[in-house]
Amino acid sequence: MGNPLYDRLFGIHAGKDTPFLHLSDGKVLTHAAFLDMAARLANALTGLELRPGDRVAVQVEKSAEALALYAACAQAGLIFLPLNTGYTTQELSYFIENSGASLVVCDAANATGLTEIAQKNDARLETLNADGSGSLTRRALGMLPAFEPAHRSEDDLAALLYTSGTTGRSKGAMLTQANLLSNAETLVQEWRFTNSDVLLHALPIFHTHGLFVATNVMLASGGSMIFLPKFDLDDMVRLMPQATTMMGVPTFYTRLLSDDRFTRALTKDMRLFISGSAPLLADTHIQFEDRTGHRILERYGMTETNMNTSNPYDGARRAGTVGYPLPNVELKVTNPETGETVPIGEIGIIEVRGPNVFQGYWQMPDKTAAELREDGFFITGDLGRTDEDGYVHIVGRGKDLIISGGYNIYPKEIELLLDEQPGVQESAVIGLPHPDFGETPVGILVPAPGQIPDIEAIMNALRGSLARFKHLRQLILLDELPRNTMGKVQKNVLREKYNDLFT
Ligand code: ATP
Ligand code: MG
Repeated sequence: MGNPLYDRLFGIHAGKDTPFLHLSDGKVLTHAAFLDMAARLANALTGLELRPGDRVAVQVEKSAEALALYAACAQAGLIFLPLNTGYTTQELSYFIENSGASLVVCDAANATGLTEIAQKNDARLETLNADGSGSLTRRALGMLPAFEPAHRSEDDLAALLYTSGTTGRSKGAMLTQANLLSNAETLVQEWRFTNSDVLLHALPIFHTHGLFVATNVMLASGGSMIFLPKFDLDDMVRLMPQATTMMGVPTFYTRLLSDDRFTRALTKDMRLFISGSAPLLADTHIQFEDRTGHRILERYGMTETNMNTSNPYDGARRAGTVGYPLPNVELKVTNPETGETVPIGEIGIIEVRGPNVFQGYWQMPDKTAAELREDGFFITGDLGRTDEDGYVHIVGRGKDLIISGGYNIYPKEIELLLDEQPGVQESAVIGLPHPDFGETPVGILVPAPGQIPDIEAIMNALRGSLARFKHLRQLILLDELPRNTMGKVQKNVLREKYNDLFT
């Protein structure tokens, strides 16, 4: 029966002394050395009496050992559950309890706070620090660098990945081996990854983007990664010439563009820049091409599905779109009330079906039933449309839709106009409770560096281009938009902050 995830991503590299991780201290970890590390960890994990199907909750800094722990879980048939390093002890208590994890792995600095929570939930606690030290690696060191992979089928769960919590409480998405494998193999093809690729990896590894998209693609293709603990402009500029590809969130791109050292010459050996996790401003796409000659390839996915759509490698990469559905992924845009497919060009809720779609939310049967249709379509909660050429456009989140006096207002439409106004760097439009209209739209503006946007002139410009019901009730200046670690704008934080403005 084997263990498809382990065999196809990790086992294929057994005995190879090809580079896998280029670490920031200059060390290079070969595929074989990485697999040795994983096997020792797998032995350590089973030594802790963990059995296939058990959950391993991991909140640790990014390191080679942390990545090897993912491999070890695959090898031992354990369900890997990575957690955002930004979560507080109180937040972790929810994840540990909700997941029923048998083991919690954390940085020694957080062990005191977590011990009690682990005990309360009958979980063991081991440490793994940013430098790779800790009680878990100590155990692993005494183990053999060989481990017979636990028998698993493609339908077994490989990971429990919690959503980012942008729209509400994080939900645990149950992902099978097949979910992960199908997506990794598709993306290798679509994006033409080979074993000569070197990926500049500065994303966190507790999220789909850095973990499954980046790492699984590199494992499946046999290439290597420049594995950086975090995004640091100096490192990015220094190491870019050694890479062939990069995956980033939109803020990576705006930060690179803000640095004069980021030039065409610096990127001349790069073949591909990929963006996702949050919308890339069309302006960033254009500036990036002007500066480097490269067109960023934007794709769209989420915790529950891995990747769904991508701009084409060879065809036109269109700014402001997320491209076509990936092979074997069906995508439709539906009316949220009736569930019927809407005509091409009309906005509706995006639904997807395919081998990438998750099995449901861990211990949330109602939520699963509400969002995962019996016929396999997952209701993503994102609003979007497809155009005549089949490109998908994301318009925003269903939860951010503003209904004012019975009319639908799509924040994106207004944000695009605001972003074009003089002195504006970026914007967010939110709906706030209003006694007459139910909700009313309000704009938040972030001024471009050193500039003060003319609020009255901007209000007038909007009045000239938008129907009356879409006119903003107010424009507010803010130094920056609240964002989570993946660079997603947290509109719920804005809504809370200004909730009582009109009531
Ligand atoms: P939660 O579901 O807990 O509210 P979340 O949806 O932010 O959090 P993730 O699964 O990390 O959690 O993010 C997926 C979402 O990110 C998508 O549903 C979509 O809204 C957004 N997204 C991802 N890629 C893009 C993109 N290229 N353009 C626009 N939005 C994107
Ligand atoms: Mg979501």
